[in-house]
Amino acid sequence: MRLILLGPPGAGKGTQAAAIVARFAIPQLSTGEMLRAAVAAGTQVGREAKAIMERGELVPDAVVNRIVDERLDVADAARGFVLDGYPRTPPQAEALDAMLARRGKRLDAVIEFVVDAERLVDRIVGRAAEARAAGKPVRKDDDPEVFKTRLGAYRADTAALTPRYEAAGLLKRVDGMASIEAVGRQITSILDSALTARS
Ligand code: AMP
Repeated sequence: MRLILLGPPGAGKGTQAAAIVARFAIPQLSTGEMLRAAVAAGTQVGREAKAIMERGELVPDAVVNRIVDERLDVADAARGFVLDGYPRTPPQAEALDAMLARRGKRLDAVIEFVVDAERLVDRIVGRAAEARAAGKPVRKDDDPEVFKTRLGAYRADTAALTPRYEAAGLLKRVDGMASIEAVGRQITSILDSALTARS
């Protein structure tokens, strides 16, 4: 199963990715997580990305594309993957198409989380408060002001991807404002249909 989860920050992509990972035993490829790991490790990529991420802006396409291309070669991605937070721009979507074509693979579905952007700020504030209460590190970009920049980047760059995947017949939509369980059920039904379509 090869999937893309598409939606603004705070839409619930990471939460739902975890359930899909468990069902199909495939990895979640979160470029945000990979970049945060690079920042923590102080690698060249991390040094390039740190300030950009703290501002809530997008890391250059070439940097992110290279990370994903390398990650797709790790053995656990051979059976499939859930992309969470990638692609985020039209050039990234083109790069992904090329990466998959080179490997003779195709996407099974692109799931768009349809959300009420105004209510996402509350979710982000909640996520920061939960992390703080659990004694976990709070992401610097889970801050209401930075969040506005992140949402702006989604609207300016990432929203342009939906017509592309719709035209390819891959786009499926879920109501991202529903409960975690209800969104999970919608995704299960989409994935069941994708499996049937393949067999
Ligand atoms: P996320 O965890 O997906 O919210 O990503 C956190 C931050 O990492 C984003 O605000 C961007 O700065 C950066 N980032 C993650 N994925 C990408 C991507 N595909 N393209 C550009 N920047 C990204």
